Amino acid sequence: MPLTNKQVDQIEQIYLERRRAAEDRAAENRARIEEAVPELARLEKEQADLRGRLIEARRSGSAHLAAELDKQIRATVLMKETLLQEAGFSPEDLKPQWSCPLCRDTGYAEGGRCSCFRPTLVNVLYHDSPLWERVNEESFETFDITRFDTRPDVDLGGESARSVMVKNLRAAKNFVRNFGTKMQNMLLYGPTGTGKTFLCNCIAGALMKEGWAVVYMTAAEYFRLMGDMAFGRSEQTIEGLMDSTDLLIIDDLGTEIETAANISLLEETVDRRFRRKQSTVISTNLTPEDIRHRYIERIGSRLLCYQTLPFGGGDLRTGSRSRLTDL
Ligand SMILES: [Zn+2]
Repeated sequence: MPLTNKQVDQIEQIYLERRRAAEDRAAENRARIEEAVPELARLEKEQADLRGRLIEARRSGSAHLAAELDKQIRATVLMKETLLQEAGFSPEDLKPQWSCPLCRDTGYAEGGRCSCFRPTLVNVLYHDSPLWERVNEESFETFDITRFDTRPDVDLGGESARSVMVKNLRAAKNFVRNFGTKMQNMLLYGPTGTGKTFLCNCIAGALMKEGWAVVYMTAAEYFRLMGDMAFGRSEQTIEGLMDSTDLLIIDDLGTEIETAANISLLEETVDRRFRRKQSTVISTNLTPEDIRHRYIERIGSRLLCYQTLPFGGGDLRTGSRSRLTDL
């Protein structure tokens, strides 16, 4: 699909911001590390001097001196690593952590567009450019299972939130592993603040980094966009959205206004993606029972055919708990 100049500018701006953010984080890390390892700056300067002298020695053909300098450089490298480790850091902590290590957040790799370009473009088209930032913060790597309660929870059929979450995490990783081999649909349900959005971000990020185009919207945003497209108020079309999206994630289903138009838009989405074998992930505060009541039979039964993952155990953000059974 041809890009407009405005879209090209937007994409370049996004990559620029990503690079800046990674460099800023690296600079902050360096300041922290230098405070903990005061010898770092001196060692790095010494390394740079030695490297300069090594080049000089090689150029002038003094093999003996070159070997000696090489030995000294390796000693400083080892010294640096040891000091960093003793302070609880690694040499990697000094480098920028790019959103996409393949292209170092430039969008270009190996003479062409990087695999992160298409997912980025889709985020631009559907106005979700901060998605990359969110998925860097909320990823499988940053997921902390210890935040989930280990006590049995009546709302989870006597299981603990942690043991349920271990299963959900496994299901989400399988979803990513199998992506592209078959249509997969997932319904994450449970109260607010129990980790549904976090898990959606984990899935989105892992797939975007593999080059899949992910559109992630709250239900309210999604129905607004669908409505605009249906009535020709948007540059985008429903066909375009479906065609360009490998995975559609709708967060917070059930918070949209309950109108006949919204219900038929949801029906159209669910049916269309089913027919085209395109994967969908939906998160909702509604229970399966609520879903049966709120939506017409056809949509409700389709949604409940999705792989369903229950969430619970109280709001992680406020620390309030649901009904826990103390042992
Ligand atoms: Zn890239």
